[in-house]
Amino acid sequence: MTDTLVQITDNVWIFPRDEDPARAQPNVGIVVAGHKTVLIDGGNSPRHARRIMIALDDIEAPAVSHIIYTHSHWDHVFGAMVFGATALGHELCRKQLGEMVAKPWSHSYIQEEIQRSPAREAGLRAMSRAMEDWRNFRIVQPEVVFSRHLTLHMDSMTFELDHVGGLHSPDSIAVRIPEARVMFIGDSYYPPASYLRHAEDTYNFALMRSLLSEDIDHYIDGHNPPMTRDTFSRFASGTLPDEIELH
Ligand SMILES: [Zn+2]
Repeated sequence: MTDTLVQITDNVWIFPRDEDPARAQPNVGIVVAGHKTVLIDGGNSPRHARRIMIALDDIEAPAVSHIIYTHSHWDHVFGAMVFGATALGHELCRKQLGEMVAKPWSHSYIQEEIQRSPAREAGLRAMSRAMEDWRNFRIVQPEVVFSRHLTLHMDSMTFELDHVGGLHSPDSIAVRIPEARVMFIGDSYYPPASYLRHAEDTYNFALMRSLLSEDIDHYIDGHNPPMTRDTFSRFASGTLPDEIELH
């Protein structure tokens, strides 16, 4: 069975998240900008990325030329090697991934990491499950980085990248595509990763409110269904929509 993309607007789709948190498979944004395809995040593994490739072929999308990382967490990055594209992200994202490149990735390394820090077990097991094979694995580091803001013009589309930071991952960015009235916000407003989380940690509502704009109709985060501006706005004021879960 072919995976089905969800169309957001004329030129924007997502390869939707897996609802099972044990799979750690986030939404991946697909933007067709004239003769290029730009991805927002690279998938959690080469296997995930290959499924995305097949789905891109179904909509006859042009080759992927760029991947914009919303942040450096593995589930948004580890599939990128499949696309042979140029990666972009925040300067802290490059720093974090630079440290991850140096690790001896393998199933036995993951087992050692679980021994060393049992609190990370659930995340590491999800990683191990996503990555069926570590041979030839390579982390694609961002070639193009920025510190506060970057505007990219790709054929018919503009990508406005803004550093937003936050407790989930300090390198988080928002990607605004004005022509499509869509904003990709990754995991920016989520609490820290579960093994670093305190009981009182919740969504960063102030960060969410700072992203609200009359010019955006669709908000797409890392692990929830796409939200309309109305839903996102109610969420940002503290009313949790039924379909949203704490990640
Ligand atoms: Zn994350």
